Amino acid sequence: MATLCGGFSVWKCSVGVWSRRVLFCGWAGLGGAAPSAARAAFLPGSPVVVDYVVHISVDGLRGDLLKQLLASDPASYPSFQRLRAESSHTFNARCDYTISETVPNHVTMVTGRPVHRPAGQPTTIHHGYTNNSPPSTDVIHGFNVNVPYVASVFDVVHDRGRSTALLLSKAKLALIERSYDVVHGAADLLPPDQGRDKIEFSQAADGDTGGLLTSLTGRLASNPDAYTFMHLHQPDEAGHIYGWGSAPWNAAVAAVDVRLAQLFAAVDARPALRGRLAIVLTADHGGGGGAASGHSDATRIENVTIPFFVWAPGFPPGAEIHTLLANRWDPGATRPDYNAARQPLRNGDSGNLSLALLGLGPVPGSWLQPAFVSAQSGPELHRVAGQLEVRWGVDFAGYVLETSAGLSPESWQLIDQGITAEEGGFKYLVPVESAPAARRFFRLRKP
Ligand SMILES: [Zn+2]
Repeated sequence: MATLCGGFSVWKCSVGVWSRRVLFCGWAGLGGAAPSAARAAFLPGSPVVVDYVVHISVDGLRGDLLKQLLASDPASYPSFQRLRAESSHTFNARCDYTISETVPNHVTMVTGRPVHRPAGQPTTIHHGYTNNSPPSTDVIHGFNVNVPYVASVFDVVHDRGRSTALLLSKAKLALIERSYDVVHGAADLLPPDQGRDKIEFSQAADGDTGGLLTSLTGRLASNPDAYTFMHLHQPDEAGHIYGWGSAPWNAAVAAVDVRLAQLFAAVDARPALRGRLAIVLTADHGGGGGAASGHSDATRIENVTIPFFVWAPGFPPGAEIHTLLANRWDPGATRPDYNAARQPLRNGDSGNLSLALLGLGPVPGSWLQPAFVSAQSGPELHRVAGQLEVRWGVDFAGYVLETSAGLSPESWQLIDQGITAEEGGFKYLVPVESAPAARRFFRLRKP
């Protein structure tokens, strides 16, 4: 938008250009028009809010293997292919740093907490639930003795009067249902009181993904839940018997693809869901590291490499999802611990990301909180006492400021002098001599 500002026609653009890991702002000189070529590059800078989120965990879906399958045999995985094409995603996210087992990672996904306490961090941030074969009496709470009640995504959605569903294809994951039932769920302190049972509908049976889809598509067709968590087991089972990346493992991914097709069909069939439903899909762990048919060694990259898809309006199709997040970086071939300066996107981020999509804040007490590159704290132009300033928020502390007279990729120049810290962020006073004859652009780039 062009706004007149002290004789300059200032084009304020503090929104992100998602796909380039940069934020732009620019201006046109006196009498100049807003640069239309640049305007076309701008996309909404804050996460969109949807009414429904389907949060899916595909058990044992190793990210690099999925990527290879979609490249080598796309016709066998049409729904994953669609998900890849229409979502922002990575095939290189990570599971928990210390544990690459099913149950602890699912607890991490719905609570936003690491399994163990990261070295040097507070004693109140991990959930502490490590048993991969939970006794039928276990609940999540209290395994970290400093956290008597471990809140979840279900608490946040339910306490705001919105419905939740839990669909599980491993019976042992009913640990999650039990932990948030009428006996073990916390009191709802947000009026009106919705009761302690945080999960309106749940279904758990070993191996019955068809039954889960029948329930899910039925609910989507009638009265969709705001938040659904669904677990699909097939790749894990095939991996343990035949090995990750084996032909039966590939077939198990194709079996999950059929379930995704059912979900897409249900969404496509109901116009009221279009643009109002998001799919967040990730995995609890990979597999095949160390032992071809195992995944228990979390020091092996094969066991911790998982995909992460966000299919939602406003999320650019095909974008690398780390570029949309202010505090997450593609880890490459590394396995960063929780204290690393550059955190990868993790499955433990998927719960809070789902809440953000619903327009809700993070799980109370959660530690894994991905932050979007937001419009609110991006670069802004201000005219102060006849000079122009670029200001940006502290959220972008790790970014570099660059300037260009045009938008061609090679024309950007680093500004490494004249940047000062101020309350809540940074500013750069644009030297008078560089004031543009027509226009100049600034951007923050994540190096
Ligand atoms: Zn698993």
